[in-house]
Amino acid sequence: MKAVQYQTIGELPVVADIDIPEPGPGQVRLKITAAGLCHSDWFLMGLPAEMYSYGLPLTLGHEGAGIVDKVGEGVVAVKPGDDVAVYGPWGCGRCSECAQGRENYCPFAGELGITPPGLGSPGCMAEYMIVDDVRHLVPLNGLDPVQTVSLTDAGLTPYHAIKHSLDKLPAGSTAVVIGTGGLGHVGIQILRAISGAVVIALDVNDEKLAHAREVGAHHTIISDSDAPAKIRDLTGGIGADVVFDFVGATPTLEIARQSVRIDGSIESVGIGGGVLATGFGSTPFGVSVRAPYWGSRSELMEVLELARTGQVHVTVEQYSIDEAPDAYHRLHEGKVTGRAVVVP
Ligand code: NAD
Ligand code: ZN
Repeated sequence: MKAVQYQTIGELPVVADIDIPEPGPGQVRLKITAAGLCHSDWFLMGLPAEMYSYGLPLTLGHEGAGIVDKVGEGVVAVKPGDDVAVYGPWGCGRCSECAQGRENYCPFAGELGITPPGLGSPGCMAEYMIVDDVRHLVPLNGLDPVQTVSLTDAGLTPYHAIKHSLDKLPAGSTAVVIGTGGLGHVGIQILRAISGAVVIALDVNDEKLAHAREVGAHHTIISDSDAPAKIRDLTGGIGADVVFDFVGATPTLEIARQSVRIDGSIESVGIGGGVLATGFGSTPFGVSVRAPYWGSRSELMEVLELARTGQVHVTVEQYSIDEAPDAYHRLHEGKVTGRAVVVP
């Protein structure tokens, strides 16, 4: 089968021909119907050899949807033909976090060698993949896999961050979204769907900002050092209740710091390598700063329901598996509008 693999440190991924995997006891094989490209894939492909810990070759892809194709011994909860999405942040399944569905915060996954698909385990960007346990499969129940696959990360991650700060986002509040790409453009729609906030979106070029307005941002601002003053103007001098930074670089965290209100929150989602100083006086009084990771199993079910009711719609650029390396290149150049999705 074809699989998009990262094989050599510092080089673009390649389309390799590998054996179709067999599901072991308790495992499920999916025939992949769609797999999303995430900027986090670029993060790991940008790591130098001494910091890279995901194994080589690595089949990429941590946003996956598929049809159950074959089940391993003992699997009863799904059957061949079921259409499913893959919950990616796999945990141990036994601790109190996992019991609550918050496998993204499992404290034991690391020491047990449990890694997400595409981020250590063989990923979704292939014709088939193995999912380790049925609890990591969420029914799609007829949702279009190409349109919804990216909700497993580009939807789930902002949803988790927004839900955490939802009590600060009633009607009359302001939310700032920095970076309106894969995660950000879904984040804007989730804010519109579940909060009362006015949404101010920031990005680095006009096309991205036009897209942000199309998906529901009330105001858009070019992301530069003038942005905090403009955000203050739009909020009567008070600042934003919550800033969601989907870039996480030093300049964007600085915008977040300068535009968050007293007692507001910064959700620093992007892994752009930036650092934000905390400690008394480094942010406005009372500000909470959090670096959330992915989301819980029940939150994935919730975000899929937002798609089912038409409240969230991923803007998709569709590619074949052979085009995946080029699509990664486009993502790296900042040219993808919404999410790039590979259909094997
Ligand atoms: P993306 O490339 O689709 O979108 C990034 C957007 O940020 C683009 O629109 C780009 O133009 C914009 N941007 C770049 N520099 C900017 C700046 N200085 N100011 C404002 N906008 C800027 O990426 P994505 O897949 O949406 O991922 C976003 C970030 O979130 C990445 O760092 C990714 O690794 C990270 N991520 C984190 C988690 C988590 O669990 N914390 C999960 C998924 C992705
Ligand atoms: Zn991701």
